[in-house]
Amino acid sequence: MTSQSLFDSATMRLTLWYMVILMTISVLFSVLLYRVASDEFDRAFGQRGEMSRVFVSEDGIIDVRERIIRDSNQRLFTNLLLFNALVLVAGGGVAYLLARRTLEPVELALEAQSRFSSDAAHELRTPLSVMRSEIEVGLRDTAATKKSQRELLQSNLDEVQRMQTLTERLLLLANNHTIELTTVDVETVAVEAFNRSIPLASSKHISIENNVAAKHVLADAESLTDVLTILIDNAIKYSPENSTIVIESVDQDKSIELRVKDQGIGIPRADKDRVFDRFYRADTSRSKLNVEGYGLGLSIAKRLIELQHGTVTVTSTVGKGSIFTIKLPKV
Ligand code: ADP
Repeated sequence: MTSQSLFDSATMRLTLWYMVILMTISVLFSVLLYRVASDEFDRAFGQRGEMSRVFVSEDGIIDVRERIIRDSNQRLFTNLLLFNALVLVAGGGVAYLLARRTLEPVELALEAQSRFSSDAAHELRTPLSVMRSEIEVGLRDTAATKKSQRELLQSNLDEVQRMQTLTERLLLLANNHTIELTTVDVETVAVEAFNRSIPLASSKHISIENNVAAKHVLADAESLTDVLTILIDNAIKYSPENSTIVIESVDQDKSIELRVKDQGIGIPRADKDRVFDRFYRADTSRSKLNVEGYGLGLSIAKRLIELQHGTVTVTSTVGKGSIFTIKLPKV
């Protein structure tokens, strides 16, 4: 069953349930009203002596009291029947809309889940196809030298490493792991993230200025270091050679901000809100940079920061650079 038909049948079932509840209440209410009203008619007309008079018509003798009560009951019955029919028709529409609203978050979650799975499968398919074709060519080549075999294995190893990184990141996003929050010194975190990013920065002759001061936040040191590393690595990836990256801390009223500023390609306004989405990659074709990636780094960063009750945001100017800001509660 596709997620759409699953959702459609769930909507129909929920609509039916809402209708059953609505109609039960409406019918019970009508029966009750009918009984109370007929008792009232009986009592009201029964008490009035003159109503019990006998009316003589051409057909014969008719009890006026009986006739009035019967007519009133009939009219009440017809009105209640009409009312229930109206409830059935209008209630059907309302119940359907209510069911859709109730299930909307489930539909969105289902959609996100299936998009996530198909994106993940798509990302894994590429390195697998590369490996497969390389192995097939290698097997057909009967005159393969030791050197070419080594190259083939090395290339396969690169693809395996890529897949490993991807699966680790996917696991990080899929797992509902909890984070233990303690007092963390942002200066220590920044030094660690800075050290991790040095090799990538030196390969592009990019200098990193670390201006983060000793401040304390409520966080998880390991996760915060991971997030800062993601932001610094991105700053390096999306910046030209010989540029400068600055990391700094800003003391706010109740929070500490950690900022990563770069002089890179920037992010177009239309992409700004989407860069934190899973697998989203802004179009970098306008720049000369051809950067590899899966579009998962920022979604992982966002998730890890949210687990620490913080936020991560970006301001950016295309062609000038970006500033990513992590905000965490101050201790
Ligand atoms: P990846 O870098 O693997 O593509 P991310 O989730 O880390 O994935 O980033 C998503 C997208 O956001 C990137 O593809 C890039 O277009 C944009 N981006 C992230 N950081 C920066 C930055 N510092 N400067 C410009 N663009 C950035």
